[in-house]
Parts: sequence; structure tokens; C-alpha cells
Amino acid sequence: MLFGRRKRKPIVIPEKKVAEWKYTTCNYCSTGCSIEIGLDDTGKLVTSRGHAGADVNRGKLCIKGLLEHELFESPGRGTQPLMRDKFHEEFKPTDWDTAMDTTATKIKEIQDKYGRDSFAVVSTGQLLTEEFYTLGKLVRGQIGTNNYDGNTTLCMASAVSGYKRSFGADGAPGCYGDFEHTDCLMAFGSNLPEQHPIIYWRLKEAKEKRNFPLIVVDPRVTMLAQFADIHLPITPGTDCVLINSMLHVMFKEGLEDRAYLEAHCNNLEELEALVTQDKWAPEHAQKECGIDEDRIRTVARLYAKAGTAMSIWTMGINQSTHGSDGVANINNLNLCTGNIGKPGGTSLSITGQCNAMGTREWSSCSGLPGYRALENENDRDTIADFWKIDPEFFPKQRGLCQTDIFPAIETGEIKGLWLVATNPMTSMPNTPRIRKAMEKLEFLVVQDCYEDVETNQYSHVYFPASVWAEKEGCHTNTERRVNLIRNAMPAYADSKPDFWIFKEMAKRFTERNDIHFPETPEGAFEEMKELSKLPGNYGQQRNLDISGMSYDKIEAARGIQWPYREVDAEGNSTNGSKLKGQHDLKGDPRLYSDAIFPTPNGKANLILVDFVNNNEQPCDEYPFWLNSGRVVEHFHTRTRTGKIGNCNKFSPTPYMEMNPDAAEELGIKHQEYVRLTSRRGDAVVMVQLTQRVARNAVFIPFHFHDCVNRLTLGLLDPYSRQPAFKQCSARIEKIDQAEAARINAERRTF
Ligand code: SF4
Repeated sequence: MLFGRRKRKPIVIPEKKVAEWKYTTCNYCSTGCSIEIGLDDTGKLVTSRGHAGADVNRGKLCIKGLLEHELFESPGRGTQPLMRDKFHEEFKPTDWDTAMDTTATKIKEIQDKYGRDSFAVVSTGQLLTEEFYTLGKLVRGQIGTNNYDGNTTLCMASAVSGYKRSFGADGAPGCYGDFEHTDCLMAFGSNLPEQHPIIYWRLKEAKEKRNFPLIVVDPRVTMLAQFADIHLPITPGTDCVLINSMLHVMFKEGLEDRAYLEAHCNNLEELEALVTQDKWAPEHAQKECGIDEDRIRTVARLYAKAGTAMSIWTMGINQSTHGSDGVANINNLNLCTGNIGKPGGTSLSITGQCNAMGTREWSSCSGLPGYRALENENDRDTIADFWKIDPEFFPKQRGLCQTDIFPAIETGEIKGLWLVATNPMTSMPNTPRIRKAMEKLEFLVVQDCYEDVETNQYSHVYFPASVWAEKEGCHTNTERRVNLIRNAMPAYADSKPDFWIFKEMAKRFTERNDIHFPETPEGAFEEMKELSKLPGNYGQQRNLDISGMSYDKIEAARGIQWPYREVDAEGNSTNGSKLKGQHDLKGDPRLYSDAIFPTPNGKANLILVDFVNNNEQPCDEYPFWLNSGRVVEHFHTRTRTGKIGNCNKFSPTPYMEMNPDAAEELGIKHQEYVRLTSRRGDAVVMVQLTQRVARNAVFIPFHFHDCVNRLTLGLLDPYSRQPAFKQCSARIEKIDQAEAARINAERRTF
């Protein structure tokens, strides 16, 4: 009982006086929630609400979505283009023509002097898909550098690589609706309640209606692990050992789906020979992965015997030196149990950024638009023909990934860089090294909504971009659902939509290739639709088919999943392939339901995953595992959420989760500041004592500038080039509390 309860003041929700609601899609995470933003009768945005008719979020939003309308006029927004000769000089305001002419001239000078690939472009997962397509057209078709990538290399590259190796193409085969059908769910390195709160709510609701075992694999007792039926606190970076051992149990006990494997998979004999080796027997594997033999057997049997079973994963798998292998091995688990393309049976990568999928599909970062590859002559010819340029203008293989571009700046191979909506000074591992690389650039252009983004310290030209609903276009979410952002507001001050910036920049490169650029995002969407209905390389259907969509249909459906094919009057697909077309406003919720994969023989590939432990390990000098991840209030480098009052108020400062036993040994108390040091650098953080982390492990949110990424390791996965953010070692030292508190207070001002 609470005394004085009757005296409490009633809660008053002030009336917002909304005159008009506009449809849009959240611009933070990949869940893809439909939002309506409310404008008052002066046209000012006053509130946001979840769209009750949207299948994804069914009226709900997390804290970030609920406060998203506050970011339009938040501090630090760029108001006009800026320029300076040297990065240590003061910026001078300029006009768009001058800023763009200067940028185009500098790009050409650098390319003429050092070669076309000496200028690099790094994009993001935050733009709208039509903007990605237009940037790709500009970079691949006109600027012509092969060193073009997105910051998605930091979060989703291993998922892309694993999907391509296993199934022949990117694209998540499942959907959120699978939670409502599955009989067993295994989550690897995924803390949904903080990362993707609305997906978590969908999972929780499905589990409450129809209980099924939830198994969570995570070294930390995350919120999702607390909610799990079985938590496997794995030794960091050893997920491949656990999965191989589970496969060992399945094959030894005859629990695999042999009929599915024989009919639809390559490399069965080879995989069986590998995983039945004695070293993967649970009694041996337990020593490497830290999960006891009995648990491994229990989980393997539970998963294999479930009517349908599904796996989800996030950065705990992807951000590793063997992230791509981890993804491929999760796919192995699902292929071996016949759990692909079934309701409740799937391999569902939970993507990070709102439009990470859109950049994967249409940006041309790792290839050419529509999941086409630079390495494939037919793909090069198709796009060159469509853009009306010489196919020889395209490189014949992919250039450097983002994580290789910065080392190439260090060595002088790359002299100029264009960063679009990404902030490597905070997001890259080993940021002291990135800072030195930025200082070496002859020319840097930063395009961002926020002038105070940390990386702008090093730019020569700054392009102020418009945010989210100041623009129009699409996102694709984790489950392949294309959703729409309607233009709700005019661009802030003299900022411009990214689409406009790319289109205008293209006019300055016409002497290389005079390509047609549509005037509107919808015009670009029409081009993407045309490209999406052309046949795939092996005669199979092209799954990434959006030809039946339109902006109006997408808004009416509150998002449509691809494939969604254009149909003729008889209801047949217009791409000539005898495929059924969709008549209503629903695309296909699942891929590979027919067990036909986009590989040369139409079968999925079982990938042989052996394990070499190349992680940085705790040692006498650096005795703690260092792990990083999200908090629910913030998104990525806090460029936006750090300016939103309530997000910042609930999560104002970097902190470090530390086990109380370990703290006692070092004489450290709750809420004291400590210095954490690794082989790369150091950071000062406030200690939060908790049993969530093991005695030899610590955890720090990754959102804060000059914090955990001063320490993280830049080792890369050999396939995806994604960094191993989550497995490195560090030591903890006591420091002067007064000085640390002063620095912390200084950094919290915004
Ligand atoms: S869950 Fe993701 S998409 Fe939904 S409101 Fe929150 S941040 Fe936006």
C-alpha cells in the first residue's frame, strides 16, 4: 500500500491540438514501425503516434519513435552549406552552387592526379531507398570510384555475406509473423527489448498466446535472456562451436531432416563428415564454448524435434572475426532441420538501421542495384544498358569496404572522401586510429542533417541535409517490408533532401556519362520497379521484385513485403515467368517456401564452418572481456537522440556494467568513475555494478563519443569485412573522481 495515494496530483496529458496527421515510417531502427506525425494548424509538428492499422507495430512505438517529431528543430541542425580550405580553420557559410562546384572540382582533381579509386564514398543505412539508388547511380555511373561502401559494414555485412553464401542471395527469408507459428525460437546475440522493442513486443505477445521454448545465447544476462526459458551464457565469440556441436548431436542421433537435405541442399556429405568429428562432440565443445555438455544436447534435441523452429540474431553474431561463418552456420542449423520458408521455421537476421535493407537492395555499395554483382557480366550489361552507359565503365569486382577505406587513407591510397549520414569518429572501432586517418585527407565532404556531428571536425565542405519526413521515399524493414515516408514538412532552413543533393551533383559529372536522373523520388522508384522485374541469373524468379508496388498502394497497406509482382489482367506476373502475381496488398511473407534457391542448381549451400579462435583474449595485462551494445533510449552515435530531452535524460552518460565480485577485488564501488584501457586506447566511464555480466566481463553502450570505440578492436571478418566490436580485452583502473566527474558533466551538455 502507498500512503498518501489519494493526495497525488492527477496526470494531465496536455492537448496537442493536432490539425492534420501525416503518414510516415520511423527513421531509427529496422523494425519499420508506421508512424503518424501530427501537425497543428500552423504546420508545426507537435506529436507522433503509432499507426494502429500497421501490421508491424499495431499502434505501438518505442521511446525513440514516440519522440521522433522533436528532432526537426533540435540543436545542431545544419542550416546552410559551409566551406573552409583546411580543417583546422573556421567554416565560412556559402551557397549550394559554390559548395557543389567546389566538391565536384576537388573530386575530379584528386581522381585526375591519383586515379579514379583515390576518392571514396561512404554512405549509411539511414537514407531513403530512392536516395540510395540515386547515390549509387552517381557513384557507379559517373564518379566511377570503386571504393564506395556503406556504414552497414559495421552492423549487417556478416548477415548479407552469410545469406549469400548459404542461399545464393541476400534477403531475410522470414518475417515477424513467424513468431506466431514457431515451436522453438533460438536468439543469438540479440537483445530485442533494447535494440528492437517493438519486435520484442511481437515476440512476447506470440509467446504469451502460445507458449514455446525461447533459448537465448548471449554472454551477458540481457533483458531478453532474463525472459528466456533457457539462457546459454556462451564464451564470447564461440557461437560456431556451439552450433557445430548441436549439429553433431543432430547427425549422431538421426535428428536431421534428411529428406529436405538430400532434395534441396549442396554439400551434405561434407558437412556431415565435418560436424560428426569427435572435436565437436558436446563433451569436447563445452570446454571451448563454455556451455555444458548436457545443455548442448538438450538444446540440440529441442530444436531438432520441434515441429518448426526459427533463429534470430543481431550484432552478437555479426560483429565478430567469424560473423559470416556464424550466420552461415545458423543457416546450416535451419537447413538441417528443414526450417527454411515455413511458417515458424526460418533464419531471420534482425537488421540494425531503419533502411539497412534498402541500402543492401538498391545502393550499389557492394555491387549494382537490385542484388546484382559487379563480378557478373550479365548484371553489368543489364545496368549499363538501363542507364545507357558503356559496361566497361563499371569495375569487374567490388572495391574496398568501409573498414578497409580508413586504413587505405592511412597508407595514402585514398586522398578524398565523401561521408553521407555516417559518423565514423564515434562509430568505427579504434577511433584514435580513425582520427589520425581523417587528418590525412586532402578533401573531406560531410553530408549530414547535423552540423555538430563529430566527424564534421575534419571536413572541408559540409552539406546540410534534410531529415526523414522533410523528404519522401521508402524504407525496407527487417522482414522485407517496403514502407513509405510522406513528405510532411518543408526542408529546415537551407538544408536539402539527400535525393536533391545527389541529383544536382550528377549534373556536374555529365562529361563522364550523361545519365538521366529522375526529378522526383517517385520517378527513381519507378526505375527500381523496372529493374526489379527483369529475370534473375539462373533462370529462377527474382525475389527482390517490387514491380507491383506504388506509393499509394504502400501507404494503403501500411507497408508491403517483397516479392510483390506486377500482374496483367489475367493475374499473371508481367515479367514473363509464369509466376503468380499478387492481387491484394500483401507480398510474400516468406522466401524459399518452394525450396528453390537462387544458386546455379537451385539448391541451398551447406557451408563448412571450422573454428579458429582468433579473438583477442583476456590475459594478465588486460583481464576483462569488453562487450558493447545498445540502450533503448539511444540510436547509434546519438547524433539525433542525444538532442532529444527525454532520451538524453533517461540515458545521459556512458556507463560500464561490472560484476560486484570483480569490483570488490579492485576496490571499486557502484557509480564510481574508472579508466578502462585496451591495447588501442582508454576511456573513462561510470561503473554500474550488476550480476548481468560475468566476473571477467564488462559491458559499455556503444552510443557515446570518445568512449568504448576508443578501445574496441578493428580485426575484420574475412568475408564481410565487419569488425569484431564485441570481443576484445581491457583492464580497469581507479582514477581521480573529481576530475572524471568534471569531464563527464562537461560532455553531457548539449
Ligand atoms: S522499434 Fe524501431 S522502428 Fe519502432 S518506434 Fe522504436 S526505433 Fe522506431
